[in-house]
Amino acid sequence: MILHNARIVTWDQPNQILTDRAVRIEDGIIEELASERDLLARYPQDERIDAGGQLLMPGNICAHTHFYGAFARGMAIPGRAPRDFPDILRKLWWPLDKSLTLEDVRFSALVCLADAVRHGTTTLIDHHASPNAIDGSLDVIGEAVESSGLRAVLCYEVTDRDGAAKAEAGIAENVRFLTRCAQGKVAEGRVAATFGLHAGLTLSDATLDACRGAAPAGTGFHIHVAEHESDEYDSLARSGQRVVDRLQAHGILGERTIAAHAVHIDAREAMLLKESGTWVTHQPRSNMNNGVGAADVGSLQRLGVRVCLGNDGFSNAMWEEWKTAYLLHKVWNRDPRRMPGDRLVEMAVHQNAALAGMFFPSAPLGVIRTGARADLILVDYSPTTPLAAGNLPWHIVFGFHESMVTLTMVEGRVLMRDRQLLTLDVEQITARSRELAAKVWQRYATFVPADSEA
Ligand SMILES: [Zn+2]
Repeated sequence: MILHNARIVTWDQPNQILTDRAVRIEDGIIEELASERDLLARYPQDERIDAGGQLLMPGNICAHTHFYGAFARGMAIPGRAPRDFPDILRKLWWPLDKSLTLEDVRFSALVCLADAVRHGTTTLIDHHASPNAIDGSLDVIGEAVESSGLRAVLCYEVTDRDGAAKAEAGIAENVRFLTRCAQGKVAEGRVAATFGLHAGLTLSDATLDACRGAAPAGTGFHIHVAEHESDEYDSLARSGQRVVDRLQAHGILGERTIAAHAVHIDAREAMLLKESGTWVTHQPRSNMNNGVGAADVGSLQRLGVRVCLGNDGFSNAMWEEWKTAYLLHKVWNRDPRRMPGDRLVEMAVHQNAALAGMFFPSAPLGVIRTGARADLILVDYSPTTPLAAGNLPWHIVFGFHESMVTLTMVEGRVLMRDRQLLTLDVEQITARSRELAAKVWQRYATFVPADSEA
């Protein structure tokens, strides 16, 4: 297949916007990025997609999300409003995840995946919890990913909050799915696995060690870290160590581990993340919504920590997360020089591509060059001001909108064309989700603690 008549944003280093080239795709790979005239002449029999002058870009990548939160949209929390992040966990997320059946897990994932296709997010790293439907939950999500045609990295959040048996079941689910992914291709190799941990504040030393012991060699972890100060206080009370020090002591950090948030870490913890090669993900919309503060992303980047961009279950419209990051750090620091476009690109493009690429190592992701994966989008953007490789980040922040994505492709397979989803039946997903969500909300009401308990 040849994609032509596009302005090609390579997101390579340095970035380029190419106007006289086309891409030829074969077996899911960009076989050639070459002269448009030459490619069309050499391969007259190839299927062609005329982009009509749109921008051709690598698909967006989301470094940390929660498909299981899809049914929370519009749900009322009974009683008084949660006062802080631990209260949000007790009153919203923990009773909600207890309410999920395997079918709810499947449709929560499908809702998010349809959103991702529509908004040009082609790889998602998910962090899943469903304490009353643990066994097989990752297979169910994997099947949803397979049907969507997208690419994903899955894990189950191990936690002690529901007792030892469920912690053990969470460990078993991670190990089973990791083994399954290692043994053969799940969703033709588009689904990979890591080992999920909820957060230090719901994990005993014994469970951390059990996870470390159970994780197959070479496996990293995916865990929330210091999202709120309570994670630090809990760690100090348990162990006398701050949370990153504690995770280091239990062998959880490393070059394949993802630490989500890192809002309340201190300088030594930042250094430990850097020295261990641990990835950090930043989720500015979530941080603002939960009122937990803002990670010091600028300092982490200056230190050389690999910081990526996630959405923590917000819409799979990653440019919204770009825009929020761009604005948040300016107001948080009262300094309009914070989070300039190049720092944003470093996080949302290059580090996200490096993180996702670690899970799918056979070809580069998140870049348009010969030999890279054909995970691509078309963006119908006609700027009223000059557009160049150098000012593209500011066009994205001030001009782009997710509705401009007209085509989404993963590994050369078109998942949406002319804004029509080709792999997922959105009407069916929407109708069934609405039925399931109403039942989830009823069960949630039975699990949510009374204000006197919370
Ligand atoms: Zn999260």
